Amino acid sequence: PSAADLITSLTATVPDFPKPGILFRDLTPVFANGEALRVVTDALVEPFRGEVDAVAGVEARGFVLAAAAAYALGVGMLIIRKPGKLPRPHLSQSYDLEYGSATLELQPDDLPPASRVLVLDDLLATGGTLSAAIDLVQRANWTVAGVSVVLELEGLGGRAVLAGHTVRSLVTL
Ligand code: IMP
Repeated sequence: PSAADLITSLTATVPDFPKPGILFRDLTPVFANGEALRVVTDALVEPFRGEVDAVAGVEARGFVLAAAAAYALGVGMLIIRKPGKLPRPHLSQSYDLEYGSATLELQPDDLPPASRVLVLDDLLATGGTLSAAIDLVQRANWTVAGVSVVLELEGLGGRAVLAGHTVRSLVTL
């Protein structure tokens, strides 16, 4: 089966999580299936092969994909974390949520300037999270090689928010 078939058949849809009215897409069954994890990882990195010096994952589900992707490409991995977790000098980027705001952090000393970084997360919705991750990569003086996600929720404007970057999504819902 293709990556898209595996994602479509294995993704669980959970109504009213984490709040009433939200239809949550849970990708953990995709991660738990050996064939799906391998096929999905290969599909995420395929267009970027040979053009990437490191893969960055957004905490926490992005870590799962980025570690597998970095191994598949034979490059290193960076972690983009929620606040207060990184022990060495780091950049912070805040972004707006529907209610309130969130922050992501990154240690710029982990990779040389001008490195080409592929940014991974499980899902693209409004694009706020990946936009903050891209800002961090650029503020670290690295280049964004592209963005890759397993699921893209259409109609929330995420792709437009990431305009100017190559965005690969394996399934659009
Ligand atoms: P955005 O910032 O609105 O694009 O939301 C994307 C971020 O929220 C990603 O880090 C996702 O992991 C998370 N997210 C939003 N909706 C869902 C969902 O339905 N399932 C899993 N993660 C979600």
